[in-house]
Amino acid sequence: MPGKSKSDEKDTKRRAEKSETVFDSLRKKGHRITAQRETILAIFREQEHGTHLSAEELYSILKERGSNVSLATTYRTLKLLSQLGLLRELDFAEGHKHYELKQDNVPHQHIICLGCNTTLEFEDHFLEEAGQKIGSRYNFDVIDAQFKIFGMCPNCREQKRKTGRPTNR
Ligand SMILES: [Zn+2]
Ligand SMILES: [Zn+2]
Repeated sequence: MPGKSKSDEKDTKRRAEKSETVFDSLRKKGHRITAQRETILAIFREQEHGTHLSAEELYSILKERGSNVSLATTYRTLKLLSQLGLLRELDFAEGHKHYELKQDNVPHQHIICLGCNTTLEFEDHFLEEAGQKIGSRYNFDVIDAQFKIFGMCPNCREQKRKTGRPTNR
């Protein structure tokens, strides 16, 4: 991994600034910013770009940090933060949910390998706009627009060519 560049630092700063306005808007909507929610958002902000955490993964990070939060509360908080548009709830190929920080400045989508579950991200403004447009057609306030592409990654394709099967899970 290359070291943090200037633009990364700027990015982190911008994200920190954004989180303040996020908390302000939460307060205005009457949601209490519990230390727990704050901690959870902070954990997501610390993750390397492109990281997706499951509730269980987040839960074990919280435990490592000495939090006494329950798994049920972790689930509920993730749901709430997703409904508020702060996190994105993602349903990948393996069928259980992952979460990531929602960053309005970088709308990104996912391409998922059905062989090994590798998940890559790609940026595309057009898909985000299409989601907004279709949502407004139904008079929805669109919180998120997700587009998933499923397929076989080059590794699995090669594996399949050799053995007739994709990579073992
Ligand atoms: Zn992602
Ligand atoms: Zn694969």
